[in-house]
Amino acid sequence: MIAMNLAEYKDVYVFAEQRDGKLQNVALELLGKARELADANQEKVVAMLLGKDIKALAPTLIEHGADEVLVVDNDLLKDYLTEPYTEAITAIIAERKPSIMLIGATTIGRDLGPRVSARNRTGLTADATKLEISDDEAHEFRMTRPAFGGNLMATILCKNHRPQMSTVRPGVMQKMAADATRKGVVNDFNVNFNVEKINRVKLVKTVKEEKTVTDISEAKILVSGGRGVGTKDGFTKLGALAKQLGGEVSSSRAMVDAGVMDASRQVGQTGKTVRPALYMACGISGAIQHLAGMEESELIIAINKDKFAPIFSVADLGIVGDLHKIVPMLTERLATMQR
Ligand SMILES: Cc1cc2nc3c(=O)[nH]c(=O)nc-3n(C[C@H](O)[C@H](O)[C@H](O)COP(=O)(O)OP(=O)(O)OC[C@H]3O[C@@H](n4cnc5c(N)ncnc54)[C@H](O)[C@@H]3O)c2cc1C
Repeated sequence: MIAMNLAEYKDVYVFAEQRDGKLQNVALELLGKARELADANQEKVVAMLLGKDIKALAPTLIEHGADEVLVVDNDLLKDYLTEPYTEAITAIIAERKPSIMLIGATTIGRDLGPRVSARNRTGLTADATKLEISDDEAHEFRMTRPAFGGNLMATILCKNHRPQMSTVRPGVMQKMAADATRKGVVNDFNVNFNVEKINRVKLVKTVKEEKTVTDISEAKILVSGGRGVGTKDGFTKLGALAKQLGGEVSSSRAMVDAGVMDASRQVGQTGKTVRPALYMACGISGAIQHLAGMEESELIIAINKDKFAPIFSVADLGIVGDLHKIVPMLTERLATMQR
């Protein structure tokens, strides 16, 4: 393979995922991180906005950190399909030569990212938890993610290929506060689609999942339970406390594996990443894979009968004792305070 001229590649590109004309939160979170990376290299942040009749979303992307929004507006991009989206991004890569490309690790991003990276013969770090530019002369783009079952953190470089691609799960990065005074440009980008290739796959019907499940990553307060809670009955106690606090119940993987809690409520490396104002960890030991999903919470309160439990190392406040006694007492006290 002919070696790439890496010097031709610059700027940080973000896939601005939208669904039914609604920007996904993760796109704004990635713009916040992209801004930091671009500033470290004195480069631009470019948002790639693909879809049909979506141009009105461009100002929001600028307010959240983009210097330029590339709009690819086409009937073929109305609904997400792998091939047209891959072709559009590949066309952008060919013309613009991005140095870095970030994509949200949503169901769409997890499909699109690997396909784009394979087509462009570059690497992709999936589910990165940390992205940075090294502060030495090399200015390397360093992508860090858990490896070997979460037992160590691996820092990955993509030295010889471009763009340097990474997917990041929702909730991992923080979006910038919207700044309506930020200036940026909006440019249309035309793509000559290979219609014959695209037509091989057709969207027959879209079936929307009924949203009965609570999205714990949106909750401001989480009362989370682990193996120490033990049973459905135990979680009813946590539910009562969550209700008093106006929050939701979440869980460690141990309780999901035991069939006590639904997988949609699992916090951690293989569950959701959460960043609530208050995270109460009840009977959770604090395994590294659990911490990976909650340690950025603003206030962490841990209740555990083992004073050496690792959860206490990330807790702002620790209560050593039996949660089955402490949780009902707390609930009762909160109820009397509100009376
Ligand atoms: C690849 C991989 C991915 C993983 N992903 C995740 C993930 O996404 N999320 C996740 O949570 N885990 C994940 N795990 C599992 C993780 O390693 C731990 O096994 C799991 O988090 C342990 O759950 P736990 O803290 O509830 O249970 P335990 O580790 O068994 O801890 C139970 C805690 O409860 C305390 N306790 C017991 N009784 C009481 C009581 N009456 N009152 C107060 N405290 C009490 C104990 O002292 C103990 O600290 C993953 C593991 C692997 C290998």
